[in-house]
Amino acid sequence: MKPKVAFFDMASCEGCQLAILNCEDIFLNILELIDIVEFREAMSDKAPRFDIAFVEGSVNRELDAERVRDIRARCSVLVSLGACACNGNVQARSNFQAPAENLEQVYGSEDRNRVQTDPQFWPLWAHTRVRPLKEVVKVDYELRGCPVDKGEFLHLVKSVIAGSIPRFAPKAVCVECKMNGNECVFERGETCMGQITYAGCNAICVSGGYRCDGCRGPLPEANLRAHRQLLREKGLSDQQIDNRYRLFCSTDNMAREGGS
Ligand code: SF4
Ligand code: SF4
Ligand code: SF4
Repeated sequence: MKPKVAFFDMASCEGCQLAILNCEDIFLNILELIDIVEFREAMSDKAPRFDIAFVEGSVNRELDAERVRDIRARCSVLVSLGACACNGNVQARSNFQAPAENLEQVYGSEDRNRVQTDPQFWPLWAHTRVRPLKEVVKVDYELRGCPVDKGEFLHLVKSVIAGSIPRFAPKAVCVECKMNGNECVFERGETCMGQITYAGCNAICVSGGYRCDGCRGPLPEANLRAHRQLLREKGLSDQQIDNRYRLFCSTDNMAREGGS
């Protein structure tokens, strides 16, 4: 019997589900291992129960939290799929502003007044707090990144089927960056989140000529206070550092750093 697998999305861009659908080179291998019973982006079937649930996206409303709890009750293994589900991602930045400020940034001052006085919309805005899945339900595994890495996805599926624990070595992006022979961006007077961020992406952004912005989240042992001090020494203000930390993983970074 192949395990039944289902995919769900909360608040997200659906890019992680798309990344999995785009794995043409391994998708046939995957289908030999599992039965996909629910996947809104790819099929219309619904399933009452499943063995593994991959859940993409953050929990923004109580409605979403109820949905995640229902998914948890219907599966044996629940996996957070991508940075939105693991760490809240960019939408969690809204947690640091008052709802009225968020509304103004999205709608502008004129429309903000209209939405704010509309009982259909305002309660949604007033009661939104972006949470990663692990703040709402027990999460068995996390697939990090924005979007997730297909190799890690396949490793996780094979491990769960084999009854073993998937291994995602807790090393920093710097390790993969150096293995790729990249010049460190600090040498150019720029800054980077690679020292405190989970590897697994092969340092793709630095290898491509940019820097690491930390989409895979902070390592368990990362010394965020020392990293903040380093960024200060490189000339970033605390506000700029907060913006960098909150870009992808504010819920993890800020919780572990104890605030800015
Ligand atoms: S983690 Fe990134 S790619 Fe995946 S759903 Fe969220 S925003 Fe999209
Ligand atoms: S560029 Fe970033 S990831 Fe690469 S070695 Fe420097 S700090 Fe680490
Ligand atoms: S280099 Fe950094 S920002 Fe880029 S994919 Fe890897 S963890 Fe994410």
